[in-house]
Amino acid sequence: MTTDLRYTASGDELTRLTAAELAGKIRSREVTSVEVTRAHLDRINAVDGDIHAFLHVGEEAALAAAAEVDRALDAGEKPVSALAGVPLALKDVFTTTDAPTTCGSKMLEGYMSPYDATVTGRIRAAGIPILGKTNMDEFAMGSSTENSAYGPTRNPWDLERTAGGSGGGSAAALASGEAPLAIGTDTGGSIRQPAALTDTVGVKPTYGTVSRYGLVACASSLDQGGPTARTVLDTALLHEVIAGHDPFDATSVNRPVADVVGAARAGASGDLSGVKIGLVKQFDREGFQTGVLDSFHAAVEQLKSQGAEIVEVDCPHFDEALGAYYLILPCEVSSNLARFDGMRYGLREGDDGQRSAEEVMSLSRAAGFGPEVKRRILLGTYALSVGYYDAYYLQAQRVRSLIARDFTRAYERCDVMISPTTPTTAFKLGEKVSDPMAMYNFDLCTLPLNLAGVCGMSLPSGLAADTGLPVGLQIMAPAFADDRLYRVGAAFEAGRG
Ligand code: GLN
Repeated sequence: MTTDLRYTASGDELTRLTAAELAGKIRSREVTSVEVTRAHLDRINAVDGDIHAFLHVGEEAALAAAAEVDRALDAGEKPVSALAGVPLALKDVFTTTDAPTTCGSKMLEGYMSPYDATVTGRIRAAGIPILGKTNMDEFAMGSSTENSAYGPTRNPWDLERTAGGSGGGSAAALASGEAPLAIGTDTGGSIRQPAALTDTVGVKPTYGTVSRYGLVACASSLDQGGPTARTVLDTALLHEVIAGHDPFDATSVNRPVADVVGAARAGASGDLSGVKIGLVKQFDREGFQTGVLDSFHAAVEQLKSQGAEIVEVDCPHFDEALGAYYLILPCEVSSNLARFDGMRYGLREGDDGQRSAEEVMSLSRAAGFGPEVKRRILLGTYALSVGYYDAYYLQAQRVRSLIARDFTRAYERCDVMISPTTPTTAFKLGEKVSDPMAMYNFDLCTLPLNLAGVCGMSLPSGLAADTGLPVGLQIMAPAFADDRLYRVGAAFEAGRG
């Protein structure tokens, strides 16, 4: 027996409204930001014991930020952003000065950062109270949050099942009504995949458009922070808050952010005439759950009925994406995670004054990292070692270029592409933990986008007839055309009614 903890099933009315609705009511002073924030904190208190979306709840800080928004609005000041006063859940991989940043790892238990991530700072500047930090697979490696050192997050749709990963906490917070807005990161699917499994919306923006400063690195050439919410418009409003150039991030691009909010509003008309949508041949696969494929084909029919033209596109190198990703990622991980040596951050093990620094480092890393993180550090170290570099890392980088070329060619024939976000609906907790390859395979449809640096969205596409669980539709667009995701996403959402 599992209890129904979806946001529609119970709870205060304030925890069911969209972020845009809440922002409107706060602006017009129909409700205060403190009331809205309080309602979400109460919801967290009521349900998070079962769901475990949060690793840390910052009640005092959230209410103080809310009170400041209320004070400013009562004094007649202009709202600092379109989302002023609407609270948010932050993935525990972004640094915060007023709450611990653990990345779901024992290695960083209780770690307090001396500075805020740029994304954190932008959220604060937009008057968005931060409710707390959400659970995740350790250092964002995983597809189920089962690699969190603090225990898994449960899916509000079915507590026996995963809410996805690595950002299962943020997705479950949205789906349970604990938060109307949340932030995730996506290295190979960690925003889109949990969104698909929880019936929420998640966007991986174009690489370089959201600052990685203060985002604890998993694989730097793939990581990207992004917005998540329950509607396309809410996601766009949050996208606008976090995106933009940052001189503190060397990979941040200095160009105007695509008009994602305008695109979401335009898409709400539901009209898709003149829009060409590509179906990737490589994603129409055997092995996908029947309920997922049926839902996908229904989505295609719906998009056609809204005026879209459907074309089939060929992306032959997508078949190699999994192999390339699981080489490039571990290589970057082995280098990025070298900093966690027990000397500078977090856990230190066995420092008895007798042991050498090297011994202490080794004991600290052995005690602080979980098995999946260790697996990837070992894999990456091996692949980068002399004699293997050309055969593995270099070869994977070549495949990466070919995948990017597949995208470029495909977008000569269409404006966006679509696919199912995941091969199946939410799987049972424990089902894949002892089979890393099965876990890795779950990212099949999301990985190619990270390798190419392009953008993608997952949004609700109904329930699978065979499992009764949510299915996600993935929309893909070229680099810096993030607005297309919102145009087509909002139209699809409107078409579903
Ligand atoms: N599941 C993928 C992995 O384990 C993606 C994770 C992510 O996007 N952070 O690497």
